[in-house]
Amino acid sequence: MAQQYPEWIWQNGSIKPWAEATTHVMSHALHYGSSVFEGIRSYATPDGAAIFRLTDHLNRLYQSAKIYDMVLPYSADELAAACRAVIGKNGLGAAYLRPVAYRGLGGFGLSAETPIDVAVAAWPMGPYLGPDALKNGIDACVSSWQRFAPNTIPAGAKAGGNYLSGQLIAREARRLGFGEGIALASTGLLSEGAGENLFLVFDGVLHTTPASASILAGITRDTLKTLAREDGIEVIERDIPREYLYLADELLMCGTAAEITPIRSVDGKQVGTGKAGRVTLRLQELFFGLFDGRTHDKWGWLEQV
Ligand code: PMP
Repeated sequence: MAQQYPEWIWQNGSIKPWAEATTHVMSHALHYGSSVFEGIRSYATPDGAAIFRLTDHLNRLYQSAKIYDMVLPYSADELAAACRAVIGKNGLGAAYLRPVAYRGLGGFGLSAETPIDVAVAAWPMGPYLGPDALKNGIDACVSSWQRFAPNTIPAGAKAGGNYLSGQLIAREARRLGFGEGIALASTGLLSEGAGENLFLVFDGVLHTTPASASILAGITRDTLKTLAREDGIEVIERDIPREYLYLADELLMCGTAAEITPIRSVDGKQVGTGKAGRVTLRLQELFFGLFDGRTHDKWGWLEQV
């Protein structure tokens, strides 16, 4: 079935029809991966559509750009307005937003000072890892592909080129019949999923891999750390060996797209009971409660459209 696209998109300062947001084939980013982007969700809340942690996502976009010496020609306020506009003008409620800034046409060298083009798209999106993933969990595998070492490509920048690694991990997992792949860092210790952070539960305590494990320190990861601690659940960031995946009482992946996805097995070994456990269910309740009013948003994470 052909992909259905929304009507409107924002590019370089204005809202335009989707089909008109084109770029030249010699754009730097297309050849060298020189783009930085964000993945953000909006939710249909009782008070109308709200974009989750928009300010924090845009902050990370500017941080990613800084790492690659990209000066965005728009302020964070302008991009926030663009995000609201693509939701509003397309009449979207629950959707996925994709702001992207990229080196455009204007030079062939690796260090060329090209113009920086910026676009923001939004489209309706359900659960990323399959319709039943949030409830029933997924079967994951450890990838034969490792994450890039920290002195090669900075994992802390959400840059287009990083996602060659993510594609190898995710495609291998799907080819082998798994729902998602989990990567080790160059140290051999656990890193993260192809596009998700990891939490393991041992004796009711949450463990997650540290920023030094070649992860993108996710905004959902931060949300869960905050919600858990607020709820009296201890959270520890630590180096984690691979085999702990098999021994955890509970295991989950989290990210803007994946939200909170339980993992029921890794490499064919059942995790815990093979079902979402007590801590995972509590985190899902607190997290999704933000969007239907059951969890009080004392942090101002919901930014109304
Ligand atoms: N790691 C990677 C590699 C990702 O692509 C993502 C998704 N952006 C995450 C982790 C989770 O980050 P966030 O919760 O900010 O979406």
